Amino acid sequence: MATWRNWAGTESVTPARIVTPRGTDEVAAAVKAAVGDGLGVKAVGSGHSFTGAAVAPGVQLRPEGLADLIHVDATTGLVTVEAGMPLYVLNPLLAQHGLAMETLGDIDRQTVAGAISTGTHGSSRLFGSISTQLRALELVLADGSVVTCSPDEHPELFAAGRLSIGSLGVITKITLRCVPLYAMHAVDEARPLDETLATLSDLVQTNDHFEFFWFPHTATALTRRFERLPGDTPLKPMSRFTRTVDDRIVTNVGFEALLRFGTRFPKAIPGITRFVTKAVSDREFTDLAPHVYASARNVRFREGEYAVPRDAIVDVLEELRTWVETHDEMVSFPFEVRFVKADDIWLSPAYERDVAYVAFHQYHRLPHERWFALCEDVLGAAGGRPHWGKMHRLTADDFAERIPRFADFVALRDDLDPTGVFSNRYLDRVLGRPSGAGR
Ligand SMILES: Cc1cc2nc3c(=O)[nH]c(=O)nc-3n(C[C@H](O)[C@H](O)[C@H](O)COP(=O)(O)OP(=O)(O)OC[C@H]3O[C@@H](n4cnc5c(N)ncnc54)[C@H](O)[C@@H]3O)c2cc1C
Repeated sequence: MATWRNWAGTESVTPARIVTPRGTDEVAAAVKAAVGDGLGVKAVGSGHSFTGAAVAPGVQLRPEGLADLIHVDATTGLVTVEAGMPLYVLNPLLAQHGLAMETLGDIDRQTVAGAISTGTHGSSRLFGSISTQLRALELVLADGSVVTCSPDEHPELFAAGRLSIGSLGVITKITLRCVPLYAMHAVDEARPLDETLATLSDLVQTNDHFEFFWFPHTATALTRRFERLPGDTPLKPMSRFTRTVDDRIVTNVGFEALLRFGTRFPKAIPGITRFVTKAVSDREFTDLAPHVYASARNVRFREGEYAVPRDAIVDVLEELRTWVETHDEMVSFPFEVRFVKADDIWLSPAYERDVAYVAFHQYHRLPHERWFALCEDVLGAAGGRPHWGKMHRLTADDFAERIPRFADFVALRDDLDPTGVFSNRYLDRVLGRPSGAGR
């Protein structure tokens, strides 16, 4: 049997059985057969979660056979796709119909089901995570039955199922509420960190999308802002040269070479991050939205990310800056700071509160444990809740205190999957083991 590994190389497993179902009936048959054989089931997406969310020691359901476009209504913007369709396939299909996703994260490699299952988000005070763009879901449950949910049909299942880490069932079809295809004017600009923090509230409020990267050993914020424009706006895409220099050489290939050097000589890391911060050029361009959101990520890293209440962000970053200045920690990767609107999804880190997400990273060949533990402590103390697809140490007991609807979610999961057909070690840790699970 082939061994599966996630993108970051932090998780691997050799499943007992690998199935590539074509359509809902084959998913239902695969679930029933697995249960009959006493095996667990996990659907996997593109393996871009840093946690063990998609690890399938029993039956691994592959997404490739569940990747068709089912229905497009260009008038209402409602689009139904099979769950395993990758976003980089979906985006051009939507554009052909004059449509686009309302907002996206910074890569497009994820499957639609994988992206929503961990609450994948971009950065805008105007929008929630991709899970908020759903209008209906079809799932195969642990007994092999098929259920559809939406705000009108099984609304509790919909409230929980829009972000469910694969724990309630196998998602087979997803209906998304899309928007007319739009363009974006993007400005990437290096600014002093102090000035950025002092004016952060304005920057978030006056831009449609605003985020920034900050390498901890530097005093510079690499800011990024997008203005949304109509789809027929004349485009001025980034030149191939600029894209090559910035995306391939500076932020990817050249950065990898420098980080390999930094792995051998860790004291060089602050200098490397200051050099990279200076080498990334300011740039400005206008392009169709899907081309603006997504970029390539070729340097492997480890990542954690917490959502804190938006008002807490400046104090949290100041605390992290003071810690780096007073300790001997070599941090090779930047923080990424993003802003997301409140939602009503039970497990969402943005449940009923506007949040700032703080992502912390480390190059995959360098130790991350002390750095990640510190970031988790500071962000957690500020009311932070972790991203379900990014590395963290928390357990079900922690989530019970931090997430208002956590107990409701777990009760629904226990009801739908009492023996833990869809559980694995990660889910046992973060949701608790279902009471009837004997495996
Ligand atoms: C380079 C990189 C950049 C990233 N950028 C962002 C970003 O900008 N914003 C952000 O929020 N996150 C980001 N992430 C995290 C990523 O979006 C999430 O981890 C996402 O869940 C990955 O989707 P996937 O298709 O790879 O799913 P996987 O990681 O394979 O699976 C994720 C979860 O979905 C479940 N699942 C998959 N398919 C189904 C199905 N059919 N039915 C039920 N459950 C299913 C799996 O069991 C698992 O629990 C990034 C990750 C990487 C590696």
